Amino acid sequence: MSEHWEIYADWNPWHGCTKISPGCKYCYVYRQDEMYGSMVSSSECRKTGNFYLPIKRKRDKSWKIESGKIVFTCFTSDFLLKDADPWRPECWEMIKRRSDLHFYFFTKRIDRFMECIPEDWDDGYDNVIVGCTVENQEMADYRLPIFLSLPIRHKSIIASPLITALDLTPYLDATIEEVSVGGESGVDARPCDYDWILALREQCVARDIPFRFHQTGARFIKDGKMYYVKRCYQLSQAHKANIDYRIGKYLVPGTVRYEWKESDYHD
Ligand code: SF4
Repeated sequence: MSEHWEIYADWNPWHGCTKISPGCKYCYVYRQDEMYGSMVSSSECRKTGNFYLPIKRKRDKSWKIESGKIVFTCFTSDFLLKDADPWRPECWEMIKRRSDLHFYFFTKRIDRFMECIPEDWDDGYDNVIVGCTVENQEMADYRLPIFLSLPIRHKSIIASPLITALDLTPYLDATIEEVSVGGESGVDARPCDYDWILALREQCVARDIPFRFHQTGARFIKDGKMYYVKRCYQLSQAHKANIDYRIGKYLVPGTVRYEWKESDYHD
């Protein structure tokens, strides 16, 4: 897949987030901040130097983010975080203005969606893809009925970090464009069992919904045996399993190695 990297871009208008559910326990934002020695608490959300990136131009006046790209949006926070409510309207304006880009964000706060959309949202902007994250059955049963009811043109389910077996069958309707599944990274990662992944794949195949296994996570159980997988192999090992189904248009953001930049921290 690496030959397609050029069609992706990152945009992190704010940085920092508060933990709200079990999937947040070893949040990668907190881990990365610690690794980079950030002096600001990871729970403190602040605008970044990249806030206006989608409408920034190069010297030759062309857009910094070239037309046609899929923009991974707000990957060092949650786009629907309450702390960011005052800043989001400007983001929607930029998203609307750049109708030549596809903006893809993940959220664990899908229950805030209707409070966060712009007035002219109607049945959704066509250039916005929303990934609803679920990590266990309780979160799936709470978030996905809400997600299915929302006016969003492009929907994906992100079952990651997968920390238990899941039954998504009740939620796999034709509006779901992709289910992407992965284990947890980091030294404290909770184990992910390959049987859970295969069961989710079966559920997707039965409904003919695209399925992607994007990463093994650090502790991976296969045939009852636990394997410790180094970060550098977690994506490739999942890819080698070769169990993706009908994957085409979108690359799951979980496969992106985001490189932290100075401008992600400071306004
Ligand atoms: S919602 Fe996402 S970014 Fe926010 S604390 Fe949880 S895992 Fe981290």
